[in-house]
Amino acid sequence: MIPASIAALPSRTPELGALLERWANINSGSNHAAGLGRMAAVLRAAFSAAFPAAQFAELSADAPGFNPPGAKALHFRLRPEASTQVFLCGHYDTVYAADDAFQACRWLDAATLNGPGVTDMKGGLIVMLAALEAFEQTPAAPQIGWEVLLTPDEETGSHGTRAMFEAAAKRNHFGFVFEPARPSGDTIHSRKGTGGAVITCHGRAAHAAKIPNDGRSAILGLAAFLLAAAKIPADQPGVLVNTGNIKGGGAATNVVPDFAQAELDLRITKLSDRDPLFARLESLAKETGAAHEVKFDLTIWLNRPPKENHPTEAALYPEFQRAAQDVGLKPFNWIHGGGASDGNFLGAAGLPCFDGIGPEGDHLHSAREYCRVATIAPRAQNVALFLHRLATGEISLPPGHPA
Ligand SMILES: [Zn+2]
Repeated sequence: MIPASIAALPSRTPELGALLERWANINSGSNHAAGLGRMAAVLRAAFSAAFPAAQFAELSADAPGFNPPGAKALHFRLRPEASTQVFLCGHYDTVYAADDAFQACRWLDAATLNGPGVTDMKGGLIVMLAALEAFEQTPAAPQIGWEVLLTPDEETGSHGTRAMFEAAAKRNHFGFVFEPARPSGDTIHSRKGTGGAVITCHGRAAHAAKIPNDGRSAILGLAAFLLAAAKIPADQPGVLVNTGNIKGGGAATNVVPDFAQAELDLRITKLSDRDPLFARLESLAKETGAAHEVKFDLTIWLNRPPKENHPTEAALYPEFQRAAQDVGLKPFNWIHGGGASDGNFLGAAGLPCFDGIGPEGDHLHSAREYCRVATIAPRAQNVALFLHRLATGEISLPPGHPA
């Protein structure tokens, strides 16, 4: 039996599509303070109107050097006393800057909206809102307490909000991350952790034509390091190493260059991949430095830990799929994703969650980004029905978290 409020969600598709168009037409690039402020005001109004009994808090997402001043996360909490607590999150920033050429939505056909952030992830925020609205009208809803966190800085690494996710992971039993589903409808099983490195090579300058030449080329030293680093994934499956940029030398080509630097993108599949990867990069720097008689400075970091699949997720995913089938979604599975999300922080902090459960779409982070608007309502039904079954006890969470 599907409760009436959940069954009725598809009738809202035109209204939800229009709402998505309005939200995506507001530029809320991660560095656009005024746009983030406008988007936050619209979201606050929408969630406050839908859930007047929820406690609301505006949380500072300050992260000097990363977030524009005044960036805020929005937090709504309902029934914190209930014995089952769930966490729903999404980011309202996008990758499109205030002066990006891609500013407005366009309907590609009656069911497909092209626009900045339509799937990543304003469409997901609408899935979340519609799911909770429908769930709140079901009779067993009082059995579940929930909290919603809407954040302004996911696209730049969540530097101002990471602690909020880690704290929420401790208070809740299960989470939902409304990042976009894959174009196939698949959701996310696990995600790679993301990090980076800056490698700087110091050589010795000399005249290019000096014979014998006592110069030591920083560019050649760095090139040797980068070529060797590119081979690490062959030995360490689950690790990705990408040289993102490189600079070095000066204007004069008749000088053996004494400086070169590159920035790397690093990804790992399991937290246990981290130490061997870092150790390997460090030993490569030592070996290459000795072989080329240059000196390397290496800075390595992990920003988001990997999101590894949690046993509770594995236990409950068939129920999520069953709810999807019951509301008429075409069958989908879950897959490993190379990109990180705030689900990474939740998973690393021990909170099982379903991630990538927003609407279907594709071409994120490009002017071709689109959302299949007709998938918003069924995706909301999927979450609402799952919550309803959790509330009635038809689905039960394994005990034990939080303590
Ligand atoms: Zn996203």
